[in-house]
Amino acid sequence: MSFFSEITNEFASQQSQFWNYTKDSLKHPALKNVYYAVFLAYLLCFVLEIILPKQRKHGVMLRKYFWQDTFYVLFNDILINVLGFFALCAVTEFAFLKFMALFNVHSLKVMDITHLNPWLQILIMFILQDFCEWLAHVILHRSNFFWEFHKIHHAQEELGAASTRHFHWVEMIVFKPLIFIPFAMIGYSAVDYFLFQITVQNVWGFFTHMNIKVKWGWLNYIINTPESHAWHHAKNVDRKYGVNYASILNIWDLMFGHFHLPKDKQPILGVVGGKEVPTTFIGQFIYPFKKNFSGKKK
Ligand SMILES: [Zn+2]
Ligand SMILES: [Zn+2]
Repeated sequence: MSFFSEITNEFASQQSQFWNYTKDSLKHPALKNVYYAVFLAYLLCFVLEIILPKQRKHGVMLRKYFWQDTFYVLFNDILINVLGFFALCAVTEFAFLKFMALFNVHSLKVMDITHLNPWLQILIMFILQDFCEWLAHVILHRSNFFWEFHKIHHAQEELGAASTRHFHWVEMIVFKPLIFIPFAMIGYSAVDYFLFQITVQNVWGFFTHMNIKVKWGWLNYIINTPESHAWHHAKNVDRKYGVNYASILNIWDLMFGHFHLPKDKQPILGVVGGKEVPTTFIGQFIYPFKKNFSGKKK
């Protein structure tokens, strides 16, 4: 069988596993069911934005791009998954294993931690995932190529919970499958990774983009909060590649000197050059490709 047909078969089989899992989950509404739990967590973030004091002037639905961001939630959290994001993660592992076979390596597992205490497993997955997400985020800012895609997220001048999903799909389909490789190395399947992503990662993103005025105090030095993430979105920061890349733990930024939380200033949201980013979804869809491939890059 050719490599291409092997990949296609693997994609089809993983995609049907995803469908079976999804159909089964949706048929059984329960709090412990991941899909429903994530949906409720999203709703909770909106409710908190309504009832807590606002950090910025606008209300939840009055925010200029609220409906566009809601569309981004549907696009990045539903459509990309329906089209095969989960299968793409599994296929990336499959292709990587095929590549490693050239060097006589026939299993990606360097150790299997799936027999450990479940809480210890969650802790290890959490730290591993968080570091990989942090590193991917640093690359998104420092690579000129990927920055054109990530600029879509940073061109936003008003933030609310759903702003977290306002990003270019290329970010997701490039980096998320790559971050799965270390998970495969310690014994996890693509489905474990997928569930971890949509619960821990997506829900925390909703939290950090919320428009609420809560002082997080010393917690800012441990976890990424709406206060610390607002500075990630600030244009009044004199660091070329930005600050506060954290996904959940702020310790990586503290360790590598990228943490920034001034007490005497307020963040001004947006990015230098953000005005050239189109305001429509289609325009944003095309923009990074045009910038990277039109040959007119600055
Ligand atoms: Zn960023
Ligand atoms: Zn953000």
